[in-house]
Amino acid sequence: MSYKNFPMVPRVIFGRGSFNQLSEILAPKRLSIHAPFIFLVDDVFKGNAWLTSRIPLSYEDKIVFVSTIKEPTTIQVDDLVEDIILTTKALPSGIIGIGGGSVLDLAKAVSIMLTNEGEAKDYQGWDLVKNEAIYHVGIPTISGTGAEVSRTTVLIGPEKKLGINSDFTPFDQVILDSELTKDVPTDQWFYTGMDCYIHCIESLTGTYLNTFSETYGNMALELCKEVFLENNLTKTESEEKLMMASWHGGMSIAYSQVGVAHAMSYALAFLLGVKHGIGNCIVFDHLEEFYPEGVTLFKAMKQQHNITLPQGICANLSDADFDKMISITLNLVPLWENALGKNWKTIITPKKLKELYQKM
Ligand code: NAD
Ligand code: ZN
Repeated sequence: MSYKNFPMVPRVIFGRGSFNQLSEILAPKRLSIHAPFIFLVDDVFKGNAWLTSRIPLSYEDKIVFVSTIKEPTTIQVDDLVEDIILTTKALPSGIIGIGGGSVLDLAKAVSIMLTNEGEAKDYQGWDLVKNEAIYHVGIPTISGTGAEVSRTTVLIGPEKKLGINSDFTPFDQVILDSELTKDVPTDQWFYTGMDCYIHCIESLTGTYLNTFSETYGNMALELCKEVFLENNLTKTESEEKLMMASWHGGMSIAYSQVGVAHAMSYALAFLLGVKHGIGNCIVFDHLEEFYPEGVTLFKAMKQQHNITLPQGICANLSDADFDKMISITLNLVPLWENALGKNWKTIITPKKLKELYQKM
C-alpha cells in the first residue's frame, strides 16, 4: 500500500479583522518594485470602500475585478494570465484571490499558469502541473466550498468541468477573516454553506473514508448543524463557525472524495451553467436513496431558512442533452467509487441517472 503525500496550506491566519494584516503578510514576499501583487477581487466588492480601501497597493500592484456570474473557465484563466504578462514588467510577486470559491479557484489557476506553458485546459486532471506556481494567497469572503484549503482548482474547460489537482495548487497563505462574509445574501449563504455540509455527508458515508477524513468531516458536520439548525448563535459566532466548517470539510475531502451529488451537479454546471452551491442543493434534495439521514437533515435546514429550490431545470432537455450529462457524470469514476464502492456500475446506470435528472 502506498499512501498519498498531500501538501497542506503552510500558513493561515484566523480572526475577525485579520484582513488588516495583509500588508505586513505580503511585504516580505515582494520580489522587486516591478514585480507587482495582483489582487483578483470578486466584482461584488466594486465600489465597496470598506473592503477595497484596505487592499494595500504599492508600486505597480493592481486590483482586477472578476465577475462570478459564471463559474470559472479555462479560457478566463488564460485571458487573465495573458493580460498579466502583457501589462507587467516582471512576473508578479504574488496573486491574491479575494472572494468565494470562484475567485479563489481563479487565483490558484492563474498562479499556476503564470509559470507553466500552454493552456489551462491542458492541466485539468491529476498531477499534470510541472512547475511551482507563483506565491498565492486565498482570502474567502463566503464560506463553504473549502477551496481555501483544497489541492484543486475547479474549472470549466471545453470538454469537462474538472480541477487542476496538483501539489502546487494549494495556497501559500490563507487569511480567514469571517467579517468579510457579513454581507452575503441569505440564499447564497445557504447554497455555499450546504456545499460544505454535502462534502461532509459524501465524505463520511463514502467507501474511501479513513480516520483522517472522518475526524475532519465530523468536526465540520457538527459545526454545520450548529450553524444551520440551532438558533442560539450570534451572527459573528455563526460566521466564524461556518468558516471553520468550510476549512474542515475541505480537509475531510482532501483525503477522501465527494460523491453522488457532486458527480451529478458537475454535469448540470457543464451543460446548463448551474452554479456549484445551488446545483449541489438541487441534486442532493433527490438523493434520499443514497444518503437517507443526510437528506432528511438537509430538508430540515432548507425549511428552517425558508429556502425554495428551483424546480424543473431539466424539463426541456433533449435526449442528446441527457446523454451528454450522463456521460460527463459517469466519467467521474473516483466519485462514484467513493459513493457506491467498486461495483458502482451495477447500481448507477444511465437509465437510473436519467430518471434522477428528470426529477430535478
Ligand atoms: P461564488 O464564488 O461564485 O460566490 C457566490 C456568490 O456570492 C457570487 O455572486 C459572489 O459575488 C457572492 N459573494 C461572495 N462573497 C460575498 C460577500 N462577502 N458579500 C456578498 N456577496 C458575496 O460561489 P462559491 O459557492 O463560493 O464557489 C463556487 C465555486 O467554487 C464553483 O466554481 C466551484 O466549482 C468551486 N469549488 C471549488 C472547490 C475547490 O476545492 N477548489 C470546492 C468546491 C467548489
Ligand atoms: Zn463542493
